[in-house]
Amino acid sequence: MLTPQTPLKNISKIVPKYAELLEKLELKTIEDLLFYFPFRYDDFSKIVPISPDYFGQTVTVEGKVIKTKLARIFRRKMSIAEIIIADENKLPLKAVWFNQPFVLESLKEGTSVRLSGKMEKQGKYFFMNSPAWERATRDATNTGRLVPVYSETRGLTSKWLRWQIKPLLEIARQPEDVIPFEIRKKYNLYDIYTALLQIHFPENQEKLLRAQKRFAFQEMFLVQIKALQVRNAWENSKAINIKFDEKLIKDFVGKLPFKLTDAQRKASFEILKDLEKEKPMNRLLNGDVGSGKTIVAAIASLQAMSAGTQVALMAPTEVLAKQHFESFKKYFSDSNFKIALLTNSYKQINDAEENRSKLLEEIKFGKINLVIGTHAVIQKDVKFKNLALVIIDEQHRFGVNQRAYLQQETMSIKDGKIRTIPHFLTMTATPIPRTLAIAFFGSLDISVLDEMPKNRKPIITKIISPTGRKEIYNFIAKEITAGRQAFAILPLIEESKALTEVKAAVTEHKKLIATFPQFKIGLLHGKIKSDEKEKIMREFKNKKIDILVSTSVIEVGIDVPNATAMIIEDADRFGLSQLHQFRGRVGRGEHQSYCFLFSSSDSAKTTERLQALADFNDGFKIAEKDLALRGPGQFFGTIQSGLPDIAMENLTNVKLIKFARLEAKEILSQDPELKKHPALQNALQKFQEKIHLE
Ligand code: ADP
Ligand code: MG
Repeated sequence: MLTPQTPLKNISKIVPKYAELLEKLELKTIEDLLFYFPFRYDDFSKIVPISPDYFGQTVTVEGKVIKTKLARIFRRKMSIAEIIIADENKLPLKAVWFNQPFVLESLKEGTSVRLSGKMEKQGKYFFMNSPAWERATRDATNTGRLVPVYSETRGLTSKWLRWQIKPLLEIARQPEDVIPFEIRKKYNLYDIYTALLQIHFPENQEKLLRAQKRFAFQEMFLVQIKALQVRNAWENSKAINIKFDEKLIKDFVGKLPFKLTDAQRKASFEILKDLEKEKPMNRLLNGDVGSGKTIVAAIASLQAMSAGTQVALMAPTEVLAKQHFESFKKYFSDSNFKIALLTNSYKQINDAEENRSKLLEEIKFGKINLVIGTHAVIQKDVKFKNLALVIIDEQHRFGVNQRAYLQQETMSIKDGKIRTIPHFLTMTATPIPRTLAIAFFGSLDISVLDEMPKNRKPIITKIISPTGRKEIYNFIAKEITAGRQAFAILPLIEESKALTEVKAAVTEHKKLIATFPQFKIGLLHGKIKSDEKEKIMREFKNKKIDILVSTSVIEVGIDVPNATAMIIEDADRFGLSQLHQFRGRVGRGEHQSYCFLFSSSDSAKTTERLQALADFNDGFKIAEKDLALRGPGQFFGTIQSGLPDIAMENLTNVKLIKFARLEAKEILSQDPELKKHPALQNALQKFQEKIHLE
């Protein structure tokens, strides 16, 4: 008997050649194939008579083949298969296919056929060019409905996949549903069989949406259960409690070159209060670029270090780790704390270079108070004597799954003491809309820095059409002549096209050298090695470079207060939150700063979107707007769902997240180990493996 776990190669209809192709797509079992979702659908659901009313429309017609013809053009090694059909109205429609002579083997004279495609006119005939087709006696699979389109690999067509998947759907009736019946009933969610059926072969748009909703819910439900499990384990563990030394903190804050904002004060207090507890802190510091998260982290670190415990600070990249190292050295310059930078390229304590193994020894014996590095290094082989606080400066893409796992990793960091785990503080670089934060991080404590330091002048942001470029270049020249610096940012292109991106950056660099021969133009992109990158950033900081051309690799946290102007090319290709991130590279000093968004798109939607940046400087407002426009998916980073984008868009629904969280809580409170829900447990296991593979 076939089951969801039956290997595809055991199915007689799938010949070994195809089984191999499927394997290349990581599709090994029936279940894998059933969860290989279409990425779009051709809407062939409009079934019409052959009639001039439908010229120019994509429709399905049904008729009898009255004539066939195969023309071969030997010289060009081409063939044209042609049929003429007629329906009850007796109006003839001609359909042709290039290089598919086999079509005629199935569509002989007298056969009833369904054709889907664009209805056109050619001479006296109604006409369809390469329509989708199938015999009218077959149930509608490739025509006459919403037809699924799968992402194809060489030799594996959507048509073939449809044909294979359809009969296998019955097997989805077998296993227990991952989402328990009561929950499905409560939220009107399809059972797994119906959902799979409707996602592959939707009866109509509405049912398709309902199927997508079910999978979106399922994904969110699993994410939430996982996060809550980690959270529960976290709550049930102990941490080293660190007493709040008010005088110490007051003295430190008093010596800072600036006054803390109220938001910084409040956040620091919340953190210091958490550290006093025996329960590990689990707090998110949610603040905009430039809102001053670093000093809050420094205050927390000071408290922990003064209590004689160790602190680890992790940054997403080496450059940022280095920058934090420099900041912390400065903040603690008149104390005796030993601060170490530990990344793959740097091994340094305060000002002395060290070799790695010596440094690790010193950390292990508690001689180092604060270790700053990238994630990987700290997780791998670093042992602490008494690590009490872990601070994570997150990447701007906020991955919820990764967060849960990072936390899990942190729990296993050996802190030298039995049965305690470190306090945990995550700093986001993307403000997360409040609505989303509450829905998503309901059981996580959140401190918000929603206030900028007083000395900040809002950045003046303008959308520039291609004709305005010259004027902006003149303006930038003036700024640089006045002693300022500028960034030129190029759009993000996916990883796979990194080379194109490098090429674009190199071209732009050359262009700007020609435009501004009097200035020094630097270049930064993904293919530049990290020490070279470091050098370029240093040169920019030291004003040896006037304009820095960069791809999106430019670090989120880079601090160059003298840079006052930024141009962003093809701004319409970025999301709002990301543009806001880039913009945060300027406006960090005393001078008025500017951000120019170049866009060659004049669609009203794009303009409206970009206008939000010109209108608001508040990252939280922009995030709300981005949430409304693009949905929450982007804030989660990679929700590895395998869901088509349409389903992700379905996640715009913050309510769905809320409900998933509510039900996850409920189910865990009744059945903490999910013993009564083996299907769910199983799915969770798979989900976990998937995330670990990332
Ligand atoms: P982010 O939140 O983006 O990490 P940073 O911590 O890097 O921001 O702070 C940005 C800049 O603002 C730094 O140069 C920092 O010294 C400065 N800064 C932080 N807090 C204040 C404040 N209260 N007043 C003035 N400047 C501040
Ligand atoms: Mg920062």
